[in-house]
Amino acid sequence: MGLHKVYRLKKHRVTALNGVDLHVEPGEIYGVVGQSGAGKSTLLRSVNLLERPDAGTVTVDGEELTSLRGARLRTARRGIGMVHQHFALLSSRTVAGNVGFPLEVSGVGRAERRERVGELLELVGLGDKARAYPSQLSGGQKQRVGIARALASRPKVLLSDEATSALDPATTDSILALLRRLRDELGLTILLITHEMDVIKKICDSAAIMENGEFREAGRVLDLIGTPGSLLARSLFPLPDLAGPDTVVVTYPRSFDEPLMSELTRRFDVDVNILGGGVEQVAGQSVGRLGVDVRGARRSEALTYLSEHGLLVEEAGK
Ligand code: ADP
Ligand code: MG
Repeated sequence: MGLHKVYRLKKHRVTALNGVDLHVEPGEIYGVVGQSGAGKSTLLRSVNLLERPDAGTVTVDGEELTSLRGARLRTARRGIGMVHQHFALLSSRTVAGNVGFPLEVSGVGRAERRERVGELLELVGLGDKARAYPSQLSGGQKQRVGIARALASRPKVLLSDEATSALDPATTDSILALLRRLRDELGLTILLITHEMDVIKKICDSAAIMENGEFREAGRVLDLIGTPGSLLARSLFPLPDLAGPDTVVVTYPRSFDEPLMSELTRRFDVDVNILGGGVEQVAGQSVGRLGVDVRGARRSEALTYLSEHGLLVEEAGK
């Protein structure tokens, strides 16, 4: 794709996208994480061409959107749903009126609309809220309406711009679970952007870290975690700065059945002292990153043993 986007303001030129290559596999949940101003929203808006990139191409579901104009572009866009951080609901319309809005715009008749809206509200767990107004809903419920509306035209791709950033942690979890269920049940492909590492940890199959309009690293989450020097691993599992001469950072890029650390002390007669870190469920695996002091005459043999068993071992001082 090699997307570029430069905003030309009166005095400044802001390079929002500087050669981003993004490839999302069908059916996966792909997360782009980065700080405010990194270019995430610009990237997302480029995918459905709400923003036309200055250079590069966008292909969605085999169709090169950047080559389309007018009616053909509008049709292609119907295959891409979008969910917004602040829900973007119409306050004067009921929940049903909001969800049915895109169908109304594309000329779907009243009876068909009614049926489709009913299905969509059931799908997102709001079957009993059709006649409520947005002001009568919680944040989580509003986002469910936003998601139902995004799915109205039966898109294959769902884009989400910080869908959970305005929500509390428990509500965030329920919305993330909903997105994953929708992916599983409808075979959706989901591209989401977020500034929250937790979102990557909880539902993403693949991820990219974005900074200053560029991807610093991108790939399958578990592959990245297992890559030496990974920024994603560091961000998901931050370690206190405890490095001494014997400290190593040990990364578990997947679940392990064997008790490798106790095995280590037994086999190589080394002392192992865990300084910090954590283990969590990521992409269905128990993944972890630990700062560990390993001391003893057979230290290097012990570390080799860990590497040979699939752990990533990095000297912390380096
Ligand atoms: P993010 O979503 O990661 O916070 P954005 O994509 O919104 O980042 O913005 C990336 C950069 O582009 C920022 O420096 C922002 O100020 C600038 N930018 C975004 N949209 C516009 C615009 N419409 N006009 C001018 N500059 C913009
Ligand atoms: Mg943004």
